[in-house]
Formats: sequence, structure tokens, C-alpha cells
Amino acid sequence: MFKKILIANRGEIACRVAATAKRLGVKTVAVYSDADANAKHVAVCDEAVHIGGSAPKDSYLRWERIIEAAKATGAQAIHPGYGFLSENEDFAKACANAGLVFIGPPASAINAMGLKAESKRLMEQAQVPLVPGYHGADQDPALLQREADLIGYPVLIKASAGGGGKGMRAVDKAEDFAAALDSCKREAINSFGDDAVLVEKYVQRPRHIEIQVFGDTYGNCVYLFERDCSVQRRHQKVLEEAPAPGMTPELRARMGEAAVAAARAVNYVGAGTVEFIVEQPGGYDAPEQMKFYFMEMNTRLQVEHPVTEAITGLDLVEWQLRVASGEPLPLQQDDLRITGHAIEARICAENPDNNFLPATGALNVYALPECVTFERANVSDTGVAVRVDSGVRQGDAISPFYDSMVAKLIVHGDTREQALARLDEALAQTHIVGLATNVQFLRRVARTDSFARAQLDTALIPREQAVLFHQEPVGLPLASAAAVAQTLLNERATEGVDPFSRRDGFHTHGVVQRRFEFEFGGEHAKAWLNYERGGSLHLTVGEGEHAVAGPLVFSAKAEGIELQFAGQRTRAAVYAQGEVDHVFTPLGATQITAIDLLAHAGEAAAEGGRLTAPMPGKVVSFAVKAGDKVAKGQPLAVMEAMKMEHTIAAPADGVVQELLYAPGDQVTEGAELLKLVAAEKA
Ligand code: ADP
Ligand code: ADP
Ligand code: MG
Repeated sequence: MFKKILIANRGEIACRVAATAKRLGVKTVAVYSDADANAKHVAVCDEAVHIGGSAPKDSYLRWERIIEAAKATGAQAIHPGYGFLSENEDFAKACANAGLVFIGPPASAINAMGLKAESKRLMEQAQVPLVPGYHGADQDPALLQREADLIGYPVLIKASAGGGGKGMRAVDKAEDFAAALDSCKREAINSFGDDAVLVEKYVQRPRHIEIQVFGDTYGNCVYLFERDCSVQRRHQKVLEEAPAPGMTPELRARMGEAAVAAARAVNYVGAGTVEFIVEQPGGYDAPEQMKFYFMEMNTRLQVEHPVTEAITGLDLVEWQLRVASGEPLPLQQDDLRITGHAIEARICAENPDNNFLPATGALNVYALPECVTFERANVSDTGVAVRVDSGVRQGDAISPFYDSMVAKLIVHGDTREQALARLDEALAQTHIVGLATNVQFLRRVARTDSFARAQLDTALIPREQAVLFHQEPVGLPLASAAAVAQTLLNERATEGVDPFSRRDGFHTHGVVQRRFEFEFGGEHAKAWLNYERGGSLHLTVGEGEHAVAGPLVFSAKAEGIELQFAGQRTRAAVYAQGEVDHVFTPLGATQITAIDLLAHAGEAAAEGGRLTAPMPGKVVSFAVKAGDKVAKGQPLAVMEAMKMEHTIAAPADGVVQELLYAPGDQVTEGAELLKLVAAEKA
């Protein structure tokens, strides 16, 4: 086993690798960029080397510096994590040339599987079933269009060098092909430096089922069963589980053997994943009719590897380190068993209600559930019921330089139902304040009928959208009651210490009634709190026939406030951020703003007609010019940030007055991109 390794990555995966290394007594070296000088992964490693600027191309992709850092610190091997250099053949070779072990497959296997088109040609020879499509070298747009017409619409254009769900465009009809091809190629050259594409049949309502494989340097190769990653948005995984619901032992063996054949065809060593797209012509309840096709092989550890670890009781990073240091696979195929069911949820800094726009900012509150471990009866080591793999800590900032995943929540149960219940509870205990996250969205996805009944396919999110987006689970009465209770608790805590901090101006026993004003779900609301004789409280929320009134009873507990109001009884954790209270309850989370009328007196009305960058990034293109009339919702500009393109649409009908930037310009968050005069003023 190695004595010291360098981890050429950041975030949760760098921390994850460091944890296993530590357990095995292997010393770790972190590398970091300017933006990550105080990052968690730097803190958890034994040593750390600064390698450059914040942008990945200035740091995490600078492999000469990473290799220098390894040599300077005496590391014997480099773990690349996922993303960044993990599937970079040149990096794997450079490690070998520098006398360092690359903890991953041989460079030749990375190369063979690196480009989707070439890997499909290879798999064709190995007789692994493929999605019908064109994966040739000729990239003439007219030829690609003809091939697409031949395949029949809808088709999917994929960047051959693509990954992470980027560089893909679904095309519904022939007329749209050329524009989609252009946009796909642009994203591909930007993100992957290679604009070659392939065209595939767009499989309807497919499942994504992938097989974890592992090889060693002695010619052994096993499969560690499957993961179902069908729940996706923008072709990116949202929830992943193992085993795949409805999987039959027969299909599992066939897919497992096909995956091992794929790995063997490239002399695979280490951890890899063979991804299949699965057609379900017989619907959800006819697994025996499922047909699987090879999509791609990821020659690295996958984000969702923990669900495989949960059901097998194994540590895949430990296997990677053992295999890379020359040991044989610890187990053979016949030794491997599935225990229970595991689900992973990817926690991302993004706003699901705004087309999953990535969010940046500080994690002012970052409370995740406690990890829960249990002794497993028939597996030698300790099982984990709730596991959190996190790359950040409270107070850390999410910068625009890297992708938006901040943590993963992994649950394990004896059955899928038990795992689902644990996931729901764990997500309810996840309280993040400071920037938008998908936590509540994940909880709703896991609660949909489709997911609960395992009616899985990649269209689950669009199919269930009515219950997934723009939901208000708590409601005004309970949210107001929580905000009022928190205000009173805060006042009790400071009373006598700083009586002038009381906003109502009546901090003596003379108070009979207090008025509160809230903003909730875009609406204004009033509430009155009456101090009854004997010290009890009576709250009225809203006016007229919508008013909800009743006694307000609450007490502070470690997990939050125990609250009773208007026939509802709940637990609520309330975190104040300026005037906004973030309220977390078992029903879900919400925000309510307590308006301080004095503070707002005389404030000017909000300005209209400005279009600002939602995040720092680069202007890719403008779809309009000065003088153009635009309709509400019409795309105006395309920005690139966090490795993805974002379209900025007109908030209202109007006329474009002026473009304030040019394509290629770097802009900061909030920068005004163009001036728009609203229709009624124009
Ligand atoms: P996985 O395939 O492991 O389930 P993803 O496909 O979401 O997970 O990718 C994992 C991470 O690696 C993401 O951060 C993604 O942005 C990044 N990534 C994956 N493939 C590539 C690639 N070819 N180039 C750059 N980044 C990639
Ligand atoms: P990436 O390298 O970005 O992970 P993949 O080729 O693995 O790209 O595809 C990502 C996702 O896109 C798949 O999980 C699936 O949901 C969808 N997808 C890929 N190919 C097809 C296809 N031919 N038909 C329908 N959906 C597809
Ligand atoms: Mg993939």
C-alpha cells in the first residue's frame, strides 16, 4: 500500500478519498486554487499545495503543477477523483513518466473510452448492444443532417468528448437540426475543446441503468451490480439507487456480463462504470421486456459510487488504492452480494424553480443530518443507514468557478421503502440557508407517486412537474406563527440585556396587541398578536374571511421550535437572514419576510427595465440588437457560467434600447447586460 498520495481534485470527492486514505494509514496531499485556499478538502488532508488561480484551467487542470506538487511532497500516487483530469489520458501518461502511479485505468483504456463515438465503434466490435445512430468520423453538417433524417426523429446530438450531461441536444424535427447542431458544437468546443458529435436515436422514456465494474492488474474483472440513475434533469443525475427496482437476476447477470465484456475489451484496471440506456417497451411492470444498449463507459470513480458501497458493504476507494498499488481484487464475482437498498440524493446550489440556475453565495446555515451507522448482521463491517459526503462546511462560499454539487446524502435500508423513508427524514433535517439549493425539490421528487412506486424513466421529473416546482408546503398561518414565535424567543433571550433592540417600541408590560407585517409568496399579509390575561398568546393571521386565528403555543427545543397554532402542531427551525426568516418544518421549508415598516419608509420604488447577469460569467451571444421589439419570455442573451449555458429571457414585452456588453465579455453578478424599455413606456 502507498504511504502517501496526492488528491488532484476538490470538494466532496477530495474529502471522500482522503477519508479512506486516512482509515488505511495513507498520508494525503491536497492541491488547491486561490478560491479554495480555505476549503474543506485542504483542511482534511495532511498537506496542501497551492497550484494556481481559481479557474480550473489555471489550477485543477494544470497537470504539470500537480505532478510537481506530488514530487515535491513525496507522494507516490495521484487520485484524480471525478471530473477535471480523471479521464485525461495525457495526464495518466504524464504521471507514469514522472514515476507516479495514476489511480485509475491504463491510459490506453481512457483513450479507448474517452470519445463516445470511438468507444461505440469499439463496443460494436465487442458485440455490446448499441443505440442505433451515427458515430462516424465525417462531421459534415449536411451528412449529419442526412443521418439524423435516416435515424428518424427525435434524435439526440451528443458531443463525442462530452460528459456531465453537457453538450447534448435533443431534436424533435428535421428543421431544428441545424440550429441544435450549432449550439451543441459551440458548447462542446467551449467545455471539452472538441466539437465532434455523434447522433443517436432518442430513446423514449428510457431508464439509465449502469454497471459498476472493477478490474485488477492480474486480469480479474468483476461487476458490483447496477445503479439506477433514471431520475435526471438536463441529462444530469438527481437521485440514484441500487439495486435497480424491478431488476431480475437474469437481466442483472446479462448486463453485468456485457459490462465486464466492455471492460475487458479495453484491458480495464480499477473502478469503471458502463452506462446503459434501457428501453421498457412493456412499461414499468414488465422488466422481462427491458432492452439495454451501451451508452458510454466512465473510466473513473462515479459520483454515485456510495450506493454501490452501501449495498455491497465495500469501500470502492479502498479497492482503487489496493488495485493501484498492485494488489489483486479483494473479492471474486461469487463473493459479491447485495444487501438492502440504497438511494443517493445530490445536493446542489441551484434554484429548481428558476430552471435549475446555479447559485453562488455563502452557506450561512449548513446543518446536515447526523450520519447513522449500524452493525450489519451478515456483512463483516459496519453498515451506514445515513451517510453524508460533503465538500463544504458552514460559512464556506460556493464560488462560480466549479460545479454546483455541494454534498451527497446517501441512505440505506433493508428495503426500498425503508430507504425512502430515511431519505425523506434526512432531507427534512437538511437546513441550508444563504443560497438556493435543491434540497426541498429532492424531497418532493422522492415523494412523487412515480418514484415511490418505482415507475422510473428519464422523463420522471417533467412528468411530475406539477407537484415539483413552485410548491408552498407550509402555508402562511404556520409560517407566520413560526416567525412570530422565533421573534418572541429572540426577545426573551435579549430582554434586559438590550431592551432597545425591541422593534415594536413597547417593551413593557403595557403591550396588549402587536402588529406584524409579512411578505409571503409575493403577497402582503398582516398579523396581530394578543397577550391575553394569564400570559397566553392569541394570534390572528390575515384579514376578513381569510383570517386564521387561535392560541399560539410554543417552546424551544434543541431541534427547533415546537409549535401549535390553528389546529396544526409542528416542529420548526427558523433562521433569520436580515428580514427573511427561513422556516424548516417536517412539511417542507419556506421563507417569510417580516417587514420592518420603519426601516422601509421613504424607500424608492424598485427600478424596472434592467436586465442583469444572474451570476458571474461570460456573455456568449445576444439574440437581439438595439431597437428590437421583444416579447415577454423571448431569449435575449446567452451567458456561460459554471460550465453551462444559460439563456436570459425578457421579463416583459418591450424594446431593446442598448446592449451594454459584447459576446466574450466577462461580467460580474448583477452587471446590467442590456437596457430594455418596457412596452407601456416605449
Ligand atoms: P457521474 O457520471 O459520475 O454520475 P456526472 O456525469 O454528473 O457524474 O459527472 C461527474 C462530475 O464530473 C461532474 O462534476 C461533471 O461536471 C464532471 N464531468 C464529467 N465528465 C466530464 C468531462 N468529460 N469533462 C469535464 N467534466 C466532466
Ligand atoms: P454524459 O457523458 O454527459 O453522462 P451520456 O451519454 O451518459 O452523457 O448521457 C447522459 C444522459 O442523457 C443519459 O443518462 C440519458 O438520460 C440521456 N441519454 C443519453 N443518450 C440517450 C438516448 N439515446 N436516448 C435518450 N436519452 C439519452
Ligand atoms: Mg453518462
